[in-house]
Amino acid sequence: MKKSLRAAGITDRGRVRANNEDRYLIVGENSLQVFAVADGMGGHAAGEVASAMALDAIQDYLNHHQEDLIAKAVEGESLQSSLEAMLAAANEKVFHTGKTKPEYSGMGTTLTLLLFVLESCWLAHIGDSRAYLLRQNKLVPLTEDHTLVSQLVKNGQISEEESVDHPQRHILTRALGTDHETTFDVLPVEVKPGDRLLLCTDGLHGFVAEEEILAVASQNKEPAEIVGDMVILANEKGGMDNITIVLIEVV
Ligand code: MG
Repeated sequence: MKKSLRAAGITDRGRVRANNEDRYLIVGENSLQVFAVADGMGGHAAGEVASAMALDAIQDYLNHHQEDLIAKAVEGESLQSSLEAMLAAANEKVFHTGKTKPEYSGMGTTLTLLLFVLESCWLAHIGDSRAYLLRQNKLVPLTEDHTLVSQLVKNGQISEEESVDHPQRHILTRALGTDHETTFDVLPVEVKPGDRLLLCTDGLHGFVAEEEILAVASQNKEPAEIVGDMVILANEKGGMDNITIVLIEVV
């Protein structure tokens, strides 16, 4: 059965930060669609340059490789290597700019992306933005945060509860563009009609509890209304960071 997707994205500066260094991408139609959020980091305006540059590089890759990706999906081939090539190209672009322009030195970005090609869906991820699957009134995390704190939880050094307001919770262990070579998490995702998928930066998941995200995400509303409600909620919690959300509904 042919799936169709309905989606909406939103980005908001929040109530505290002077700039918005988050970006999102919604691109493509029918046989190939891409959704992504990116949360840039770096001094001055470098964070927004990194997130915008990464998403531009992805758009550029898609412009050149769309037919190739569709051909692979028609053959039932894995899209893993294509996604890795796409992310490596984005990484190279951001890393090179950071290396050659002193004002952008050390910049980087998170990236959490969903690629839908024909009947297949793939997730690619680096950093601490997140993807969730909403199915049967449960919010299932699809990503792991690449943070020092999530590493400490994994190693049993601190508890999940201690991680929530840990002073070092923003320290990333991996990001796009900060190193010449990096590893991305790339995996296929099974989706079916009725599912909703949520991509968000830490301006949402860092301040709004998962139960509250679930309550808003499962409302019987249009994706555009839901993402708007989520921004209102994050701002009610103080809007301490930039807030970016993409919600996709599989119809
Ligand atoms: Mg953030």
